[in-house]
Amino acid sequence: MLYLNTLLHKGYCGIKSSTPCKLASEYKEELNKYIKIDLNAIKYNYRAIAALAKNSECAPVVKSNAYGTGMIAATQALEEEGAKKFFVSSLDEAICLRENFPSIEILCLDWFSDKALKCMDRLRITPTINSFSQAKMLESYAKNVQKKISCIACIETGLYKFGISENDMAALAVDQSFKQSTSISLIFTHLAASYIDVEFNKFQIKKFDDICKKWPSAKKSVAASGGIYLGDEYLYDLVRPGRALYGVPRLDSAVPIKETTKNVASLYAKIMHIHHIKKGESVGYDRTFIADRDSRIAVVGIGYADGLPYSMSNCGLAFINGVRCKFAGLISMNASTIDVTDANCNKKDWIEFIGDNISLAEAAKAIKTTPWELLTNVGSRIQHLYT
Ligand SMILES: *Cc1c(COP(=O)(O)O)cnc(C)c1O
Repeated sequence: MLYLNTLLHKGYCGIKSSTPCKLASEYKEELNKYIKIDLNAIKYNYRAIAALAKNSECAPVVKSNAYGTGMIAATQALEEEGAKKFFVSSLDEAICLRENFPSIEILCLDWFSDKALKCMDRLRITPTINSFSQAKMLESYAKNVQKKISCIACIETGLYKFGISENDMAALAVDQSFKQSTSISLIFTHLAASYIDVEFNKFQIKKFDDICKKWPSAKKSVAASGGIYLGDEYLYDLVRPGRALYGVPRLDSAVPIKETTKNVASLYAKIMHIHHIKKGESVGYDRTFIADRDSRIAVVGIGYADGLPYSMSNCGLAFINGVRCKFAGLISMNASTIDVTDANCNKKDWIEFIGDNISLAEAAKAIKTTPWELLTNVGSRIQHLYT
């Protein structure tokens, strides 16, 4: 089925509702740029990861608009594959998800205020406690509304981003007031360098296991995408894949792991115009590209306001009718220029930036960024077409 992610903002988090639209394939020709999202590839990746996870529950992370692929469409595809629990990173994402999916379990990783707790309680969104004071805030909220509130707990084991410290977890374990008012359904930690430093993984797991001893009835989770591939000892009760679901690879690794996910996102823009310029002429702002031969320069209507990284200026790759080309000159707000001298192309031809011919990994490497940064950036702004 083909969906069109209409650009109607719903007032929440810039995430657009994706409504089925039969006109989408014809509409493609009216667009000047789009990102194509292969929902079947997301489903394939989910099945592959769930198989690796064995008896561990596979709970997708759909934060940041599902890494740019579109949170609503991705969640729908993943729910169809049997996923029941979904992680998001902010309350606005959680609200948007609840509006579209009345029955899934939503786990919000963000820090909360008292007001946010009220909202989460009403919408059945599970909060995460990330610190001792957040735990106590949850406890007083539970006392106020006179019911036991369920939550999940993020444990700090070495990443030093979010998470409750070992000492604070020990204090909570003997805090009867906290334990009477709340129940921790899941305890998790996040690996700092899963593919880079396996010894450090072991250090984190040891610390995690020690802390968890005092919480026997809570489920446990360690692995994000990387951890799932590392082996059974990382699986625990639940795994939290994000990037691998969306076909986003790791570029570097100290361990011999081959992830076999399928690519999900492809990025295209249409040639609006072709300039014929003479050797010595310049292209774009600040004249950073000077032609060293007579050249043909294609103008496409996609720029940094569309999420294209500025670092693609003079570096980014493009694929046109069987030929690889490069960006020429600085990226503009809504336009870019590509040296197509070696390609046989015309106005209205489509240029690929990510897809079958230029992988997400390669596109990211060319501009020295990570595949997940590239995808979340472009996926946050451009019209999505779903296949
Ligand atoms: C983002 C995130 C994940 C997913 O990580 P990937 O490396 O993209 O699989 C898992 N757990 C937590 C807590 C996260 O913040």
